[in-house]
Amino acid sequence: MRKILFSGILLIFLFTAQMVWARPLKVFVSIVPQKYFVEKVGGDLVDVSVMVQPGANPHNYEPKPKQMVALSKTRIYFAIGITFEEVWLERISATNSRMRIVHTEAGIEKIPMLAHHHHEEESEHRHDEDMHHGIEDPHIWLSPPLVMVQARNILQAVVSVDPLNRSQYEKNYRDFIMELVVLDEELRGIFVGKKEGLEFMVFHPAWGYFANAYGLEQVPVQIEGKEPKPAELQFLIQYAKELGIKVIFVQPQISHQAAQALAKAIGGQIAIVDPLAPDWGANLRQVASKFRTAIR
Ligand code: ZN
Repeated sequence: MRKILFSGILLIFLFTAQMVWARPLKVFVSIVPQKYFVEKVGGDLVDVSVMVQPGANPHNYEPKPKQMVALSKTRIYFAIGITFEEVWLERISATNSRMRIVHTEAGIEKIPMLAHHHHEEESEHRHDEDMHHGIEDPHIWLSPPLVMVQARNILQAVVSVDPLNRSQYEKNYRDFIMELVVLDEELRGIFVGKKEGLEFMVFHPAWGYFANAYGLEQVPVQIEGKEPKPAELQFLIQYAKELGIKVIFVQPQISHQAAQALAKAIGGQIAIVDPLAPDWGANLRQVASKFRTAIR
């Protein structure tokens, strides 16, 4: 009798322990595009909050007090290796000892932040770049092949926290991978027939992995997050003229005065491409066709 009563209590205890975590699973991501990835894998089983608010610059974001509170009810934090995490991830982790921190960038080899040009005459103008070669490019969410790796990391995390729904997560994951394969093919198709190494000019160099995936090369205007110095701007003007570059790509989150000046100087224009758009797949298609139009 005593034993049965004890088992009963144990059962109730186990049941309530299961209930401690609200359904759907509350998770956090650092940036908006990750919400797209985690929702693809998690479906209705996850409730995703985003840390870096739309319009904010993910390189220097500071979490709101309300967000730090929300973390106490969070089961998983999906990091992606952006600059703001270097400063905040430890503090985020300290808010909730039961929250799992998952590094979705695990297994991805990063490239240097600044694309280096290989033309002889450039080296003396742009030698500054060499000193910053050690800085890793964080923009890994803009390459479909690399998102496949991130999707795998997301799958492993949700399954390990919520094993009862493993088969659902695995199905979602397979569907997402298929979507990524189709998208990747389509983007490849957009640049088919273009010579390798075609260059587009971008204010903040967020498109390095995208460029790598599709045989393009980005020419950054910003250097180390700073506006170019007058001599550098002069160089960029000349360079753009030589290459027939007429479009300077900018993003909504980062002010881009130098880009405007540059566009004016080359008789071109600025165009917006958003690396942080919520509708990730459709956005990459749009960006690809904008790059395609700008490159000739
Ligand atoms: Zn960036």
